[in-house]
Amino acid sequence: MQLLDGKATSAQIKEELAESVLKLKAEGKKVPHLAAVLVGDDGASRTYVNAKVAACEKIGFKSSLVRREVDITEEELMQVIADLNNDDDIDGFIVQLPLPKHIDETKVTLAISPAKDVDGFHPESLGNMVLGIPGYLPATPNGIMEILKRYDIETSGKNCVVIGRSNIVGTPMSILLSRNTNPGNCTVTLAHSRTKNLTELTRKADILVVAIGRPEFVTADMVKEEAVVVDVGIHRIDDESAKRGFRLKGDVKFDEVAEKCSFITPVPGGVGPMTIASLLQNTLKAVQLKS
Ligand code: NAD
Repeated sequence: MQLLDGKATSAQIKEELAESVLKLKAEGKKVPHLAAVLVGDDGASRTYVNAKVAACEKIGFKSSLVRREVDITEEELMQVIADLNNDDDIDGFIVQLPLPKHIDETKVTLAISPAKDVDGFHPESLGNMVLGIPGYLPATPNGIMEILKRYDIETSGKNCVVIGRSNIVGTPMSILLSRNTNPGNCTVTLAHSRTKNLTELTRKADILVVAIGRPEFVTADMVKEEAVVVDVGIHRIDDESAKRGFRLKGDVKFDEVAEKCSFITPVPGGVGPMTIASLLQNTLKAVQLKS
């Protein structure tokens, strides 16, 4: 078994991006500027946003963190988004999900200017992805494509099962893997909560992408020998013996599945860092698309 090391791969991508920043500066051009909107004080969301801001600083991007209280009204949040859309210095921005229940996430997604949609969630970005038109690819699925590419994983003609059909991970992942690209050209099955005989399907998967949101759901008996396993899930599991009082686990029972497969992403250090790298790549793209 070989680890698909997202931490090392994202570090490599960040080095490449830092070089691009130096080049932009040398040419007297604008340095990419990413803004992140964080509503409320959820611990996991704060960690994700801080990691994104820190990554920007590390590679020489400008970053702005816009924090708002959990009781912000939808109208007020719409104004924050309008201001970011109109701010010429900001090349791209994200609104960290999930949002409080009183705010309609679809409305928020639609309000973000497609030109600044570096998370790749806007219908225009998703439409471009389906049609193969260059644009912003959703950050997590694109990060997974990038790690498959950089580890030279053969995907063409392979049987791929994606578990989970969310708009931000499972569904776009299934589309990217089935496109006529490299990586891509897989025969994809998209499994979800109504799928029958899931194990029967997953045991036939050469490539298994798990984005279900249930800790350690996928066990060794569900995985084909020598499969490539990508674990998107992130869960904080209470553990008093851990320094922070919790441990991170994925959707895959790592220890037993790792013994069986050819490649696997760990949690932490797999898909998470690749998502951030992909967001940074999209932000650089935002600057390049403008010029
Ligand atoms: P989601 O809750 O929106 O979707 C989960 C999907 O799993 C649903 O489509 C549902 O149909 C499917 N599902 C639920 N129970 C099932 C079952 N028993 N069998 C088959 N399918 C079932 O989740 P999401 O937003 O796609 O996130 C999934 C996981 O990935 C979460 O743990 C989330 O925290 C994590 N995540 C990680 C990153 C990252 O950067 N690493 C990014 C996004 C999400």
